[in-house]
Amino acid sequence: MGIIFLEPVFKQMIWGGSRLKTVFGYDIPGNDTGECWAISAHPNGDCLIKSGGYAGMTLSALWENHRELFGNAQGAVFPLLTKIIDAKEDLSIQVHPDDAYAKQHENGSFGKTECWYVLDCDENATIIIGHHAQSKEELKNMIDKQKWKDLIREVPVRKGDFFQITPGCIHAIKGGTLILETQQNSDITYRLYDYDRLSNGKKRELHIEKSIDVIEVPYQEKKSSGAPLATPNHWFKELINCDHYIVWKGTVDGETVLTQDRLFMLVSVIEGSGYIGQEPIKMGDHFILPFGYGEQPVKGKFTVICSSVQQAVYS
Ligand code: ZN
Repeated sequence: MGIIFLEPVFKQMIWGGSRLKTVFGYDIPGNDTGECWAISAHPNGDCLIKSGGYAGMTLSALWENHRELFGNAQGAVFPLLTKIIDAKEDLSIQVHPDDAYAKQHENGSFGKTECWYVLDCDENATIIIGHHAQSKEELKNMIDKQKWKDLIREVPVRKGDFFQITPGCIHAIKGGTLILETQQNSDITYRLYDYDRLSNGKKRELHIEKSIDVIEVPYQEKKSSGAPLATPNHWFKELINCDHYIVWKGTVDGETVLTQDRLFMLVSVIEGSGYIGQEPIKMGDHFILPFGYGEQPVKGKFTVICSSVQQAVYS
């Protein structure tokens, strides 16, 4: 089985822009396009297979009916979701629940762990990760008194930065930032603060109680735990290895070999172009390398973000 290319799904958002067209060349629905759901089997944006024997099928149907392509991985739903996010304006400040909380409070849904690779950003751009409260009491107090400036942790951001956002971590992308997000396949978000903005004359709904329930206090910066996972791909650099996914950045300039030794691997081309085996690939392509894809020569000048699940969890 060869490469499985996917057709992205686009989402218009009040904070969206036009860089999914100007940078990536996608045919977007409007100049307020905020999200490209690039590899997704979520019911809110289920990608179609672009070509080959499965062309026109949704990724969720492929997962349902051809589990052999995914190494017979277990699980009712496809576990990962890859997005590109173009924030022209600031996104609301939010937090996600973990699996246990979401299961209990959100009809059995997954929680959400996500991570961001910064594709591009304005000069002097910042990003919101974490907070400064030292106890739940202090957190509640600062939220009650609307002391957002004191509470929210804002840090500088540069192209190529990477952030892991675990459940309970307050986060937000600010205007001028273009990121690639790899996340658990979930859409559960609690909105903590929306800068008091009005949308069609009123403020968007907040979820203060649930946010307070799930926010981790105090905030702790998350890094990969332990040694990087062994990979035969020497041109891969591991960005994160957590319970829900492993994410690598791969850079090719010339010729090398790609070994797909995982149950399956998600690949997004974020720069350049080249070949994997006989298949031409270019910036903006998103695809899945199925189980048993094996070893293929690669050549060209390109950068990819790749992800996979932990074998032990899903096999
Ligand atoms: Zn999020």
